[in-house]
Amino acid sequence: MKRTIFFDLDGTLIDTSDRHYKVYKDILKSCGISNTLSKQEYWNHKREGRKTVELLPENCSEDITRTFIDEWLERIEDKSYLKYDTLLQETLSVLSTLKGKAVLMLVTLRNNSENLLWELNNFGLTNYFKEILVSSPLEVKSKTPLIRGYLEKCSKADDFIIVGDSEMDISVGKEFGMLTIAVTYGIRSKVFLSKYKPDYHLDNLSETVKVLEETDNR
Ligand SMILES: [Mg+2]
Repeated sequence: MKRTIFFDLDGTLIDTSDRHYKVYKDILKSCGISNTLSKQEYWNHKREGRKTVELLPENCSEDITRTFIDEWLERIEDKSYLKYDTLLQETLSVLSTLKGKAVLMLVTLRNNSENLLWELNNFGLTNYFKEILVSSPLEVKSKTPLIRGYLEKCSKADDFIIVGDSEMDISVGKEFGMLTIAVTYGIRSKVFLSKYKPDYHLDNLSETVKVLEETDNR
């Protein structure tokens, strides 16, 4: 049976926590606000499912909040911030192993696809994937249209798996009846992701290889 694995990028294959925190901190600094959360506090709140805009200090006026939202979009995918992302230690070896066992797809919501490709090339990630499915989060609310478009070209008998670190990844996988694998080291905690009832929770990306072997033997 042909097997396809859809991988999320941010928080699943790369660590984006430094980039996110740096953008948060820099914007507030430019607004003259210094009583920000520490990185650990910021990231703990994100892992509990809080929106970034809910993490602004109480002394932020409505004007500053609006500026924050605009500046966030302006900065979050700029190359000067993307350079704070890091590749997870196990990503390349896991993708190398899985590439021999399945078709690998990347599915991500990013506004700037040119900068996305620049980043993927920098990390040496591009060639592992048959296709890179990308849409702007300003245009689509979820990955559903991207994945639906691809699935329409596939045989219904194929086997599909999704690996991601957010509720969106798990929900879209369930919508299409895929095996859903939640990784718990990214933007959401295991407790938070449990509410979405993924088939597997993994604390390390390399465990996906074991899950695949396990489902092979079923
Ligand atoms: Mg993600």
